Amino acid sequence: MRNDGEVKKKNNVLKNIQYIVRMVNEYDSKIIVFGMIRNALEKGFYSFFFVYFIMFLYDLIEQESNYTFISIFLGAVCLAQIGVYILSNQHDYYVQVNTPKIVQGIYLKIFKQALLIPLEKVENPEYYGKYTRALDNAQNSIMQIVSLLGDAFGQIIRLCLLIAIAISIDPILLLFPVLCIVNSVIVSFIRSGVEYRQRKELSEYERKCGYCKRVFYERKYAQELRLYKIGDKVTDLYQNSIFELQRIRKSYLLRLALFEIWDKFMLRLCLLVGACIYLAYKVIVLKVLSVGEFAGAMAAISNVSYCTGFLSYYLGELFKQGADCYNLIAYMEDESQDCIKENEGLDSFPLQRLDIKNLKYSYEKNGTLVLDDVSFAINKGEKIAIAGYNGAGKTTLVKILLGLYKEYEGKVFWNGISIGRFNTKKYKKCVNSVLQDFSIYELSIANNVTMSSSVDEKEKIAVALKEAGVWDKICKLPKGIESSVTKELDPEGVNFSGGELQKIALARIFYNDNADLFILDEPTSAMDPISEFNAYKNLFRKLKDKTMLFVSHRLLTCTMADRILMMDHGKIVEQGSHEELMKLNGKYAEMYRIQSSKINSIMRAM
Ligand code: ADP
Repeated sequence: MRNDGEVKKKNNVLKNIQYIVRMVNEYDSKIIVFGMIRNALEKGFYSFFFVYFIMFLYDLIEQESNYTFISIFLGAVCLAQIGVYILSNQHDYYVQVNTPKIVQGIYLKIFKQALLIPLEKVENPEYYGKYTRALDNAQNSIMQIVSLLGDAFGQIIRLCLLIAIAISIDPILLLFPVLCIVNSVIVSFIRSGVEYRQRKELSEYERKCGYCKRVFYERKYAQELRLYKIGDKVTDLYQNSIFELQRIRKSYLLRLALFEIWDKFMLRLCLLVGACIYLAYKVIVLKVLSVGEFAGAMAAISNVSYCTGFLSYYLGELFKQGADCYNLIAYMEDESQDCIKENEGLDSFPLQRLDIKNLKYSYEKNGTLVLDDVSFAINKGEKIAIAGYNGAGKTTLVKILLGLYKEYEGKVFWNGISIGRFNTKKYKKCVNSVLQDFSIYELSIANNVTMSSSVDEKEKIAVALKEAGVWDKICKLPKGIESSVTKELDPEGVNFSGGELQKIALARIFYNDNADLFILDEPTSAMDPISEFNAYKNLFRKLKDKTMLFVSHRLLTCTMADRILMMDHGKIVEQGSHEELMKLNGKYAEMYRIQSSKINSIMRAM
């Protein structure tokens, strides 16, 4: 894979948080503000109740005030508490109801983005990790950021009120909370950096563990795990990864614990004791403060200490989640710099001639050329076969013609215009294909043929399946083309053999024969020879006037083509009709003879 030129952006936490806020606002513009108001009122009330109210009460009692007045005051405070409680409940309910809407919206955004990312990037082993981390952010970090913004805002309001109360008693008291806040912010900032580094180191081994877990539950590995001992190797990989995870966690444990001890116990304890000594001196020695003021000031200072504890925790978490969201933002932003421009480019038009000129491609930067100066032309209506041994570069060539790979040297001209200049969507409409590693979706047979949600043309779908040679089985199913393929999501689904699934995939070509260019990469490799012969016979009849390029490792089918391109080590080494290439007595003739002798010996053995 080529170097994907990843943009190494600085992970700016505040910008990340801003980005997430904008993203959330797209789906719900009230949720963040509502959370802030709820927290501000709730925490503001606590400052009032636990500090100002206590001071006020002490002074009333000291001044022997009217009992009725104290009772009315208490009643009013209780009513305010009920109001705050109702508001908090309303907010909790609002968050619960609206969270799925936001998370789903962001998930859909990621899915859409995934479709825009060029195949070259998707095939990079790092891509899977980037994608899953982005989904992980959408699932976990976003709503945590929403909640933490409210929590942190509430604590800031609480802190301001507490400081205001403390200053109103004695401005010197400001010194204690300020020291406390500065300490907490510095500690949480340094700690979040350390935690981020730890998570980065952990992520490699978490990915490996995730892979090992997948191997033991995904169906595609089930057979081989039972037939070979490869499971032992995967288990080793899992154990080593767990060992590494523990080692990394241990190496960070002491540092993180020290931050905790310093933040939670040492400094705050010192400040509380310091403030207490200072206030006691003013009450007892200088006699300039009342007992109520002493109680209020001490309550304010101790609340400041709790409040800064919470604030530092919330800010630390906010930094952590903001830093983590880099994965989602990098996925949505950096990758999109290379994304296929969906809305730009020329319209493509009926194919007259396709020219492939000096095509060169390698999967790695400065790596071996998988395609090495490939040039050929196809005229409208021609049927071209590509033959060659494994690894010759046939599939890579097909993927370039389909517009899936972009970073190649040379040109592909469609009626003389480079395919890179066409609008991607419109180009895709002109080219229909079935690939070697096609996918079958856990949906209905009809969806798997039309490859869309529209399955109205039932007759057309049935005809396509008939032409692909799989109708005999499907027409007997109780639900016909509505049957699900495989039983994974539908217990009434039907399991098909590899050859039958290939026929369903091939039906896509018969169903959508409006395209100009048809590209088939070994679409019949799992079929028996008779099915393959019939499938090709039907294809040639159906696409009589269309242009077709097909890869086949069975040279018998290649004989049906107008022209055969023989590929070897990324080059076209021979081209011509079957007869011409046999006369040439080169690579193609050699391969053909080997295949024919194999067929003959099998026939003789039968
Ligand atoms: P063919 O279809 O003729 O068998 P391919 O085009 O699939 O050949 O592969 C040509 C070469 O490119 C092979 O050596 C293969 O290992 C390599 N290759 C194919 N796909 C990838 C990929 N996604 N990443 C890296 N190398 C690849």
